[in-house]
Amino acid sequence: MSKLHYLSFLISLLVGAVLFSCGSSEDSRERVSPAYSLSQLEQAYAVSKEESVQERRFLYADVLPLIAARGSDKLAVSPLGKSVEGQQVYQLDYGKGPVKVMLWSQMHGNESTATMALFDLFNFLEGEQPEFAPWRELLHERLQLKFIPVVNPDGADRWIRRNALDIDLNRDAIAQVSSEARFLKAVRDSFEPDFGFNLHDQQTYYNVKGTANPATISVLAPAYNAATEVNAVREAAMQVIVGMHALMQEAEPDHVGKYNDAFEPRAFGDNFQKWGTSTILIESGGYPNDPEKQVIRKYNFMLMLQALLAIATEEYKQQNIADYYAIPDNDLKLMDLVLRDVQVELAGQEVRMDLGVKRREVEAAGGYFVQGVIDDMGDLSVFYGYEELEGSALRVREAEAVPEALSSLTELSMEQAMAYLRAGQMALQVKGLPEGLVHPYPLLLSSSPASKPAGISLGAGANFFLEEGGELRYAVVNGYLIDLAEGPGRAMRMRSRP
Ligand SMILES: [Zn+2]
Repeated sequence: MSKLHYLSFLISLLVGAVLFSCGSSEDSRERVSPAYSLSQLEQAYAVSKEESVQERRFLYADVLPLIAARGSDKLAVSPLGKSVEGQQVYQLDYGKGPVKVMLWSQMHGNESTATMALFDLFNFLEGEQPEFAPWRELLHERLQLKFIPVVNPDGADRWIRRNALDIDLNRDAIAQVSSEARFLKAVRDSFEPDFGFNLHDQQTYYNVKGTANPATISVLAPAYNAATEVNAVREAAMQVIVGMHALMQEAEPDHVGKYNDAFEPRAFGDNFQKWGTSTILIESGGYPNDPEKQVIRKYNFMLMLQALLAIATEEYKQQNIADYYAIPDNDLKLMDLVLRDVQVELAGQEVRMDLGVKRREVEAAGGYFVQGVIDDMGDLSVFYGYEELEGSALRVREAEAVPEALSSLTELSMEQAMAYLRAGQMALQVKGLPEGLVHPYPLLLSSSPASKPAGISLGAGANFFLEEGGELRYAVVNGYLIDLAEGPGRAMRMRSRP
């Protein structure tokens, strides 16, 4: 090979390499990588988690020390307004930058996941770990953050969505009948945030459309008009969401749904967008075996921190809103338990069908309990279950009552409860048992003589057995599926009956 030929050969190799690398960067552009690494954000959570809060039902008074009494010169705390029943709501301010961001949580009293994550975020902002000093510095110099944790403390104490006037605050943005709605609007008008984070929880039965995955996080850049148009304000919210979605795709692929953007003229999110604040709705949904939403809390923290960093660096401006529209829609097709193709005797016929069970949480004086009911029957092929059981070899058998009574609950053990179940018995009388006692046993306990549970019907309690070839295989007790060869396998929240 002559010297010239050798040179052109080298050049062609180089050109080929350049072309090849262009091709691969083209491919990687399909998934926009988050601005900050997943492991760094996980580490930030690990060092910031507020350990005094581990459960999502808390009274306002229990978390007030995490809000009103932080006593830090970094995070300024001041009174903002009072709830209908006179509880003081606070605002916390951080940073001195030109871009203003407002984050508010728990406008709906029983939606506390993001509030927990805000406590973690406060710890992060006040933290001293040197590895995160550049992030804190960036947020402090570029942003002015205003946090309003627990907008609706009266509803939080009752663990209800609405406030003490029984008004849904997210339908009170215009009428402003509630004091909480008035101070939220007033602070928006005085602060004039560039960005707003409207933090909620949604039902755990939302799934990512077309998949069995729960919509662990749902997002929305709310519309500001009925035509759902996009202006620069809404576009910026969509761009921030694209970065959040990319982070979740890395952390937990296909667990994000996009909320319907139908314009709601009474809602705060829609009106914030209309009033000129780029508004981002985050809805915390469900995650398998996470009843206290602690996994989802971690994702809330990571998403909020990532979004704030992306706003501070203006990296969000690189995002394309086509990627926002490509986020899958939310759907409402999840149930707690779906039994597929089980045999059941109904109306004198032996038929095969799917049974769908939902376990609702019900608030009660003795602590919340779970009420598992048959939510749907028939062809449930379009639904998904957090738990599913293929039942073509299974037949429903009605449960019996234990013929004798116990004289006290101290006589009952988990082993004894399982022995009753393995004998086909599910209802048990315990004399003198207080009504409404929340207990962990996989039995229907009552203080009066136990009666056989009602059979299969729509809306009835989900209490029956599944047999295979005449042998009992599973119990469904108050909607909880129990493999009789094993144990209950999880904590249950049952309530005693009179
Ligand atoms: Zn809500």
